[in-house]
Amino acid sequence: MTATPTFFLWTIGCQMNKAESERLTNHLKCLGFDEAATAEEANFIVLNTCVVRRSAEERTLNKLANLKGLKQAGAGRSIVVTGCFVGPEREELHRRFPHVDFFFGPGDFGDFADWTTELTGIRTAGDSSFLTAHPDVSSFVPIMQGCDNFCTYCIVPYRRGRERSRPVKEVICEVERLVQRGTGEVTLVGQNVNSYGHDLPGNPALSDLLLKLSEIDALKRLRFLTNHPKDMSPRLIETMAALDKVCEHLNLPAQSGDDDILRAMGRGYTVSQYSKVVEEIRRIPHVSLSTDIIVGFPGETAGQFQNTLNLLSRTRFDAVHAAAYSPRPGTVASRTLKDDVPAGEKKRRLLEVETVQEAIAGEINRELVGQDVEVLVEGRKKDKWEGRTRSNKLVFFPCNDHNMGEPRGEVVTVQIEKATAWSLQGKIVDYEPK
Ligand code: SF4
Repeated sequence: MTATPTFFLWTIGCQMNKAESERLTNHLKCLGFDEAATAEEANFIVLNTCVVRRSAEERTLNKLANLKGLKQAGAGRSIVVTGCFVGPEREELHRRFPHVDFFFGPGDFGDFADWTTELTGIRTAGDSSFLTAHPDVSSFVPIMQGCDNFCTYCIVPYRRGRERSRPVKEVICEVERLVQRGTGEVTLVGQNVNSYGHDLPGNPALSDLLLKLSEIDALKRLRFLTNHPKDMSPRLIETMAALDKVCEHLNLPAQSGDDDILRAMGRGYTVSQYSKVVEEIRRIPHVSLSTDIIVGFPGETAGQFQNTLNLLSRTRFDAVHAAAYSPRPGTVASRTLKDDVPAGEKKRRLLEVETVQEAIAGEINRELVGQDVEVLVEGRKKDKWEGRTRSNKLVFFPCNDHNMGEPRGEVVTVQIEKATAWSLQGKIVDYEPK
C-alpha cells in the first residue's frame, strides 16, 4: 500500500447495488482511502457487478478483461469483485479470473471487512462503517436482502438468497445518522421492499417502518423501491397517502400486459389484478407511477406483445424501464423455455415500447408547464442546478437566479417552463439564500 491509498469503485445494476456501493465507499473512506477518478489511478479497485441481463454480465466480463492488463502492469493494485456476478462457486471464479484478489457475495460486508483488515491492518469500529451509507442529499438505505419470488426469468434469488429484513431499530438508527450528516431524502431499497418485515419478530410491515421514520424531524422525504404488485397492501397505499414525508411516487413492475406471459414468468398476478392495484394507488393525489417491462419473453407472440403496449396506453405510466429478455443460466425459464423471439424482433419491440412511452411521458410532463413544483436540489451540472420533484421527475433550473448561494439539500419551488419525456426545465420562484 502507498502512503495515501486510493480506491476506484465501479457500479452497475439496480438501486440495491448503488446502495451497497454507498456503504463500500463509506467503509473505504473510514479506512483512510481517497476516491480516485479512474481505475488507472487507484491502488484498490472494486467492481460491483450485475448479471440480471446478459448485457450487464458482458459489461462485467469486459471490465474484468481490461483490469487484467492493469493488474499485470503492477503497482501493487488489489482487485475486488462483488455483486450478483459472484455466485457460490468461488473456486471456479478464482480459476477463471486469477487476477482478482478477492470475491465477496452481494451484501456480504463482513467478509469484505475481514479481508480489508488483513490488507490494511485497520479495523473500523465494530464495522459500523457498513451500517451507514456515505451521506448525500439523497441516500439509499437497504432494508432487506434477497427475494422469495423466484420469477422464472430472474437470477436474483439464486445470487442474493431468500428475503432477510433488517430490524426496524437498525434502519431507524441508520436514517437518523444520515440525516444528522445532511441527508434530506432517503430511499428504502430491497428487491421486494413491500414484503418487508414478514421474517422479523412481530412482523412489522413497511407501513410501520414508514410511520416511525416519518417522525425523524429533519428528514424531508422518504421513498421506497421496488415493489411486487402482489404485496401492495391497501394499508401501505393508505400510509403513503397519509404521510407527508412519503413521496407520491411508486415503481410497480408489471413486466408484461399479457396473462399467459405473466403466468409463464411466475409473477403471481393477472393483468386485471395488476390494474386493480393501480386503480387503488391512483387514489393518492398527484401520484406518479413507473414500471418495468420485459419484451421478447420466450413464446411472446405479436398479439401478446400488443397486450403489453395496450397496458402502457391504458395505464399511462410516468416512466417505463424496458429490457429485452435474455436467458440467465440456472433460472427456470432458461432451463425449460426456448429463447425463440429473434434478437432483431426483441430490439424492434423494445423500440416500440420506448416510442409509445416517450409520447405518453411527454404528454404527462407537458401538463406541468406553468405549474410550481417542489424540488429537492441534489447537485449542479454546468450552469444548472438539478433536483427531483416529489413525483421523482428530474428538474433543471439556472444557477444565476436569485443570486443563489448553495441550495444543495434545500427544497425550492420551481416554475416549470419546458418539458420533455425525460426531464423538466424551469425557473426558481421561491428561495431565500441562507
Ligand atoms: S420479484 Fe421476481 S424479478 Fe424481482 S427480484 Fe424477485 S424473482 Fe427477481
